[in-house]
Amino acid sequence: MSTETFEFQVEARQLLQLMIHSVYSNKDVFLRELVSNASDALDKLRLAKLRDDTLDADVSDLHIELETDRDARTLTVRDNGVGMSYDEVGELIGTIANSGTAQFLKELKEAQDAAGAEGLIGQFGVGFYSGFMVADEVTLVTRKAGEQQGTRWSSRGEGTYTLERVDDAPQGTSVVLHLKPADPDNQLHDYTSVWKLKEIVKRYSDFITWPVRLVGEKGDDGEAAEPETLNSMKALWARPRDEVSEDEYHELYKHIGHDWREPLETIQLHAEGTFEYQALLFVPSHAPHDLFRQNMRHGLQLYVKRVFIMDDCEALLPSYLRFVKGVVDAQDLSLNVSREILQQDRHIRMMQRRLTKKVLSSVKSMMTADAEKYATFWREFGAVLKEGLVTDPDNRDALLAVASFASTHEDGEAVTLKRYVERMPEGQDDIYYITGESRETIDNSPHMEAFRERGIEVLLLTDPVDEVWADAVGEFEGKRLRSVAKGEIDLDAREDDRSEDEQKQQAEAYAGLLGWMRERLDDDVKEVRLSTRLTRSPACLVADADDLTPALENMYRAMGQ
Ligand code: ADP
Ligand code: MG
Repeated sequence: MSTETFEFQVEARQLLQLMIHSVYSNKDVFLRELVSNASDALDKLRLAKLRDDTLDADVSDLHIELETDRDARTLTVRDNGVGMSYDEVGELIGTIANSGTAQFLKELKEAQDAAGAEGLIGQFGVGFYSGFMVADEVTLVTRKAGEQQGTRWSSRGEGTYTLERVDDAPQGTSVVLHLKPADPDNQLHDYTSVWKLKEIVKRYSDFITWPVRLVGEKGDDGEAAEPETLNSMKALWARPRDEVSEDEYHELYKHIGHDWREPLETIQLHAEGTFEYQALLFVPSHAPHDLFRQNMRHGLQLYVKRVFIMDDCEALLPSYLRFVKGVVDAQDLSLNVSREILQQDRHIRMMQRRLTKKVLSSVKSMMTADAEKYATFWREFGAVLKEGLVTDPDNRDALLAVASFASTHEDGEAVTLKRYVERMPEGQDDIYYITGESRETIDNSPHMEAFRERGIEVLLLTDPVDEVWADAVGEFEGKRLRSVAKGEIDLDAREDDRSEDEQKQQAEAYAGLLGWMRERLDDDVKEVRLSTRLTRSPACLVADADDLTPALENMYRAMGQ
């Protein structure tokens, strides 16, 4: 059978280089990545068989196997899961399909230190390649469930890989790592050591719901010892919180979130009653790079009675919580449930409401319990959460309670609406805000002059969504939310120190000029009027109270409306 040689994509090559000359202090995690992939493959096969029981695949003993050979210095990670077709191997392993790769490489160049790079790797999901941290050659043999012929993929990670069809491949996938030469000074990195493998699996993969078995090496008598299961396979979400360590939760997060970093927050929920379910949710510590892209994968993993049903189950959380990762395990759903059915299901809608409230209340507690954590949360996810102010009126109050904003009266900190209202001086009835692209542009806006002069606090809103929610929400605790760039703002009512006579005189003095300006600008403006809102600039453009602001106009235009 013929062997074809292919070149890695440019991006893939760069990533491989990174792995080969790895900066990671902790190379052990390569095994977590391979076990994680194997576990996913088993989940997929069980599900495929469930959907179609004519599928020609054996699901009677799904498991993961680790096998070492000290003499050959190889470590094999094997699963009897769903496998990959010839084309899939090329697509999934030979290239980096992830659209964020360019972004990744850009950020990688910016990340000066090793720790920064390490964090990035996980975020961009280069799991399989991590094998090249410990191996100078990797061979993968796989056969897709239902197909007769298998595929062998092999590479030294240096620019090319080979693909070859093979006839005798068993069901599933095996990855053979040809380990780099042992470092005599560092026995800790001997991945043929039984002790070492046990330790890594226990640490990183204990919760994997499939058995991870260590196949004993053949002894002198040629007999292999009985395989030993290394993981406990306990579903963490089903266990009481005080029996599970933070570390265990974090490892589960890393597996399902495809992230190498610790989560910011772990949230657990057990719902009893007619519709029982358990949920284990995680708030990541960093926003994913594609948070605002249309095709961002989002949603939780759905299990039914411990059986994995689907990834990215959008029905479980509203879109403005799309960054939340985790697992929901329901007792009373059909194993055959489809996405379409989930969207319609009354119980799922109730579940979504409950999970949403739970997430929002944890953010609320975070605010009081750990200000720094909350600040991180809001910096990473605030812009997304604010979408909920528009799309989820039911939770608007809860969202407003956890929202915070940059303000003229704060340097680095953000202020909550509650705080703003508390420190509003006597006589101020409205909450003022200004929107724009950056703090600098709005800080220097002529609209701000009168407010600065009078020491009135103005919220500085710079996220695109700010335009929309501020309009939609309208008020907070009975105080109107008002854009300083819109309508006639009556700062004068209480501050105007000019007598009526003076005002009249001024109006007359400028009548000619205003008339002339009105004529000249007829096509462009509705009205030209005298104002006390400016102190330094001679003129500014103001929108009518019910007009779209310029930024919003741009946004709608961009959306093609
Ligand atoms: P990720 O797991 O984040 O998708 P990986 O680099 O770990 O990224 O794996 C890339 C893809 O290769 C997986 O999404 C999967 O489709 C495929 N793959 C990897 N390992 C296996 C395996 N053992 N069995 C089946 N498919 C696999
Ligand atoms: Mg993976």
